[in-house]
Formats: sequence, C-alpha cells, structure tokens
Amino acid sequence: MLLIKNGRVLDPATKTDAAQDILLDGEKIAEIAAPGKITRARDAEIFDAAGLIIAPGFIDMHVHLREPGQESSESIETGTRAAARGGFTAVCCMPNTKPVNDNASVTRFIVDRAKSTGSVRVWPIGAASVGSKGENIAEIAAMKQAGIVAVSDDGKPIATAKLARQVMDYCQSLDLPVIEHAEDVSLAHGAVMREGVTSTRLGLRGMPAAAESVCVARDVQLTELTDARLHIAHLSARSSLELVRWAKQRGLKVTCEVTPHHFTLIDEDVQYDSRFKMNPPLAARDDRDALLAGLADGTVDAIATDHAPHEPALKDVEFDRAPFGILGFETALGLALELVHSGKITLKRMVELFTTGPARVLGLEQKITQGQAGDLTIFSTDHEWTFNVKESSSKSRNSPFDGRSFKGAPMATIVAGRVVWKR
Ligand SMILES: [Zn+2]
Repeated sequence: MLLIKNGRVLDPATKTDAAQDILLDGEKIAEIAAPGKITRARDAEIFDAAGLIIAPGFIDMHVHLREPGQESSESIETGTRAAARGGFTAVCCMPNTKPVNDNASVTRFIVDRAKSTGSVRVWPIGAASVGSKGENIAEIAAMKQAGIVAVSDDGKPIATAKLARQVMDYCQSLDLPVIEHAEDVSLAHGAVMREGVTSTRLGLRGMPAAAESVCVARDVQLTELTDARLHIAHLSARSSLELVRWAKQRGLKVTCEVTPHHFTLIDEDVQYDSRFKMNPPLAARDDRDALLAGLADGTVDAIATDHAPHEPALKDVEFDRAPFGILGFETALGLALELVHSGKITLKRMVELFTTGPARVLGLEQKITQGQAGDLTIFSTDHEWTFNVKESSSKSRNSPFDGRSFKGAPMATIVAGRVVWKR
C-alpha cells in the first residue's frame, strides 16, 4: 500500500481541486479522503506530496518508440523510461516501426515488450493501410483485438480521399478514432521547413500552411460523410484550427492535438540546426497565436509530444538531409507550465490537456476515483531545473530545448499503484 499525503489533488474529470490524501492498494486507488482522514493504512509506505499537485496520469497520445526495428534510436524500454521522467503514465505509439504495425502479430509484439520492459502503459496505434503505403486497408479489426487504440499512417497522411473514406467507414463500425497526419504531399514535397520570410532568408525550401489545412479540410468532409471519429495529429496552422473549430460547431466528431514545440517555437527560431527540423515544421507567429487561443478555449483537445527520437548518426547531419522529429517527453510539462505561468492557460486547463482531453479522444476515462487504476502524475509548479539532454533516458539527443531552464517539473510518476519514477 502507498499513502500519498499532503498533496493538492487536481482532477478535471471529477472537478476536484482540494487538499486530499490518496491510498493506493495493489494496482488501484483504494481511498481518497481529506488530509489525515485515512487511518486504515498504518503500515502503508508514505509519499509526502507537500507543495505538489497530484493529477490523473498524463497520457501522451502521439509518440514514436522505434521498436521494433530502429532500436539504435529508441526502444520501448528507454522510450517509456523517458516518458515516466516526463510524468506520463501512458503513451500511444505510432505504427511507423520496422516492420510497420499493420497486423496483429506486430501489435502483440509491442504489447508484450511493453509488459516485460516498459515503465509506463503502452497503447499501440495500428496502421491505416498495409505498410502505411496508402494502397490497401490494414487488418484493423484483428489489430483492435490485439490492443490498438486508434489507427494512423503517421509519418505521412492517409494517401487518398478514397482510402481515407474506406478507413473511416471501417473504423466507425469498430468505434476507433482515425488519427491523421494532415499533409498534402504535393504541396509539401521536398520542403524542410515552413514557407515564409525565414525560409527565404535561410535559403531552405518551405511548405505553406495549406499543405496541412488542405488535408484537414478533406478529412473533415469525409467525417461528415462517414460519421467517423477523426483526430488531427500535431496541428500547427491557424487555417487547420479554424477548420476543426468549424467542424466542432457542426457537431462533427473532430478532435486535435498540439505539440509543445509548436506552441513554444516559431519558424523564426529555425537555424541551420537539425534539432529545429520536424514535420509539420515550426509555423508562423500568427499560427502560434492561434494555437495558444485554441489551447485556452477548448478547440484543442490534447497536448501530445510527437516524441521522435533519431540517433545522432542520423540526425546530426546538414539540415536538408536530416530526418524530421525531436524528443518530447521530458520537456513537455515544463513547456506547458510556461503557458500557465504567463497566464495563457489555467493550471486546470493544462492538466485537462494531458489527461481527460486525450482520454476522451481515445474513448477512455482518466480520473482519480476509488477503484480506478492507480495511475497518477505528481508535479511541482515551481521546482526550478534545467534540461540537460545528455541526462535524458532516451537513446537519442535531438532536442532543441537542451539547456532550457524551467519552473515546474514532474516529481513522480505512478503506474498501477507503483512509483515507476521519482525525481
Ligand atoms: Zn506525424
């Protein structure tokens, strides 16, 4: 048994914001009560959470763990250890591994590896098409039986409107969300950053915001046609956000996520440094302003990191040749707290974006109630620290936030009643 004392419980799902003690017994939450009121646990181990916030376990619904196939960049073991250090109790891993997670045997491999080597829960996402090649629909029903929570061809969009419609129809009947990496590849082809004054100044090829929003528009129309649940991954452009807002107003089942790097950095921050190269690329200042408004007003459903490790041998090359993607787990909460400290979003809203928000997209519940799984994220809003990427639990080092100082940090991550990481 573990008794967490003296903390402030902040749970948007139950609308709780109060000093409470929590008793964990086995894998579950056994009791929640006012401070000092839990008396039946005299022999319980004590976790003193004085001055700290206790939230439902954070969910990162968009990550790349690179296993199977690219273990020189990351593994389920190292990736989930980094996730735990970031305060996440569950992560959804994208299917673009080698081989691609497009059938039940790969899904089962991931689920089994996560059980034997993972620090946090791993919920796989299955490919929408065979090999994510955009030609034939994948074995989605069999993968669902094996444990996938959504489908996506992430890394690229579902190739054609025809296939997207077919995938949505199928996922509608299975009640699975379709997660779209929204990109019109004909507009984005060959681009390495966002098109604009900065791309011109740097002499780098840019893609316009429309490369994203054209695909969002297509999929929103297809959602209306199929009644499927559509989730837009790593949304970065104002034009895309406005489409999502419009779709929500119409009552369509459209949701979206935003990454910490897109709400923190903009295209003007890009240097000839591959740690600033990701897809979608860092957007314009005006886009970031729109994302901040969407995070505050509820148009954005989740913060997701798009944790995308690449080993130095691959990533530390010239900008044009480097792969897209950066690390995300260990800096996500620190970056989100910057929005809280600057008054852009409330603390409650931030917790929502890491917990009830992604849970709702996935059709799950993440809350602190008796009998619920003992998954908790304990964090500080004022602990000062500096991120040193060399100390990361990830195998990779590709973070533009190396050396950044933060106010507020994850302090402990509890999964199924067990402390899997503590600062
Ligand atoms: Zn993507």
